[in-house]
Amino acid sequence: MTTLEIRDLHVSVTADGEAKEILKGVDLTVRSGETHAIMGPNGSGKSTLAYSVAGHPKYEVTGGSVLLDGEDVLEMTVDERARAGLFLAMQYPVEVPGVSVSNFLRTAKTEVTGEAPVLRHWVKEVREAMEGLKMDSSFAARNVNEGFSGGEKKRHEILQMKLLKPRIAILDETDSGLDVDALRVVSEGVNDVRSELGLGVLLITHYTRILRYVQPDFVHVFVDGRIAEEGGPELAERLENEGYDRFVTASA
Ligand code: ADP
Ligand code: MG
Ligand code: MG
Repeated sequence: MTTLEIRDLHVSVTADGEAKEILKGVDLTVRSGETHAIMGPNGSGKSTLAYSVAGHPKYEVTGGSVLLDGEDVLEMTVDERARAGLFLAMQYPVEVPGVSVSNFLRTAKTEVTGEAPVLRHWVKEVREAMEGLKMDSSFAARNVNEGFSGGEKKRHEILQMKLLKPRIAILDETDSGLDVDALRVVSEGVNDVRSELGLGVLLITHYTRILRYVQPDFVHVFVDGRIAEEGGPELAERLENEGYDRFVTASA
C-alpha cells in the first residue's frame, strides 16, 4: 500500500522577473488502487501540479508538502522520485537524439530498479507490452520521440509505465490529441497496469471523454490553482453537461 499525500501545496513560477503564485494550496491524497481524475479549465494549474510533483526546476514550491509513504518527495532528486515508485511521464526529455526506444526503456528500467534487467526476460516483456498497446515491433528501433505522432507519444508513455511498474502514476493529458481508437488502446493500457499493479493514478484531463474508458473513483475540479469541488464519477458527468463555467464564475 502506497500513499501520495499532497498537503497545502503552494507553487510559484517566475516569468519576466516576476514570481506569480500558480498553486494556491492544493490538498490531495492518492492511495494504491485508487484513480483520481483532476479536471479543470486551461490555465488552472493542472500541469503545474504535475511538474511540481515531478520536480521540474521551473516550479518553486513556496509552501506545503508532498509525501510518499511519509517520505519528503520535494527533497528527492528526479531520479530518486522515480526509484521511490513515482511515474511522471513528463520527467523524460521531449526528444532523445540517437537513443532507440529499446535502449531508452532498458536504461530507465535499470535506473529505477538499480540493476539491469535480464535480457532474455526483458525482451519478451517489452514485446508483450508493445503487443498489448498495438504497437508495431519496429517501434522499438526508432529514436525516442523523433517524429513520433501524438498517438505514438502517448503509447510510448504508457509503454514506459507498463515496464517501469511504478506505484503511483501521474498522467497529464494523456488523452489529448488521440483519436477514438488510440484513446481506447491507451486507456486499456492504463487499466491493465491499474489492475496488475494496484497502481494509484492521478489522471489530469481537460475533457471527460477518457473517463468513459478509465473509470475514476474520485473527481476533483481544479480552478485557479486549487481544488474547487470533489466528488465521485457523477461529478464528471455533471461537468460534461454543464462545463466549468459555474466553478470559474464562483472563484472569480
Ligand atoms: P493547465 O495545465 O491547467 O492548463 P498550467 O499549469 O499549464 O495550467 O498553467 C497555469 C498557469 O501558470 C498559466 O497561467 C500559465 O501561463 C502559468 N505557467 C505555467 N507554467 C509556466 C512557466 N513554465 N512559465 C511561465 N508561466 C507558466
Ligand atoms: Mg494555503
Ligand atoms: Mg496542462
